[in-house]
Amino acid sequence: MSEIELEDISKSYGDLQAVDGVDLSVRDGELLCLLGPSGCGKSTTMRMISGLETPTAGEVYIGGDNVTDQAAYDRDTSMVFQNWALFPYKSVLENVAFGLKMRGDGSEERQQEAREMLERVHMDGYEEYSPTDLSGGQKQRVALARSLAVDPDVLLLDEPLSNLDKRLREEMEIELKDIHEEFDKTFVYVTHNQDEAFTLADRIGIMNDGRLVQVGEPSEVYRNP
Ligand code: ADP
Ligand code: ADP
Repeated sequence: MSEIELEDISKSYGDLQAVDGVDLSVRDGELLCLLGPSGCGKSTTMRMISGLETPTAGEVYIGGDNVTDQAAYDRDTSMVFQNWALFPYKSVLENVAFGLKMRGDGSEERQQEAREMLERVHMDGYEEYSPTDLSGGQKQRVALARSLAVDPDVLLLDEPLSNLDKRLREEMEIELKDIHEEFDKTFVYVTHNQDEAFTLADRIGIMNDGRLVQVGEPSEVYRNP
């Protein structure tokens, strides 16, 4: 059970209302894209789901539990960032195994699981590489493997493909869709890219100026020509 309920959440930074009264239900197992222009509050909304930000007002529920005041590391969520956030001095394998260490698994078990996850994202053979020797797309695969390895109920992806060129982005969109279908997890995916949202999403939430202005399946929401 990993549905997410945002109840009238707001976040202000001084006089700036970054998120303004958002109500949103994300269904268990769906891939929901938050779409909107830069600065409209998508990341802030996502960070309130992860626990990296606390709402100024409103409540956050995950799997029916009120997690509004729960720390990020106590939530069953994992984030994938635009800039990968990989450890440059750890190998690819160590990067993926790191999250499992946090979970307290033994070393052998960790390495095995990390290898399997790398294989799943087509990065087997790169275990001993440094992340700094990988292309952008490969780094994002490793970041994805690291997040999936901890087996979170909810995966939060913040503009994960924005640093990639168009061809690679389209290739990764297909892979991400496959991975979402294979793993039984709820995905919330932030993007300013309309094509990406309409390709990937089960449902799209459109944000503007801190507010959620539309939610629906790709066929139901308004698409700019
Ligand atoms: P988006 O993800 O849609 O680009 P953000 O959620 O990152 O938008 O930001 C929404 C607004 O809140 C922007 O105006 C941004 O500058 C502002 N903002 C975000 N985080 C902070 C912060 N930590 N301090 C001050 N302002 C912030
Ligand atoms: P994104 O590209 O994911 O929307 P940003 O580049 O807007 O993220 O923000 C990156 C970090 O900078 C976040 O931690 C955010 O809280 C912080 N930030 C964004 N805008 C501001 C701001 N105006 N003042 C202070 N911190 C900000």
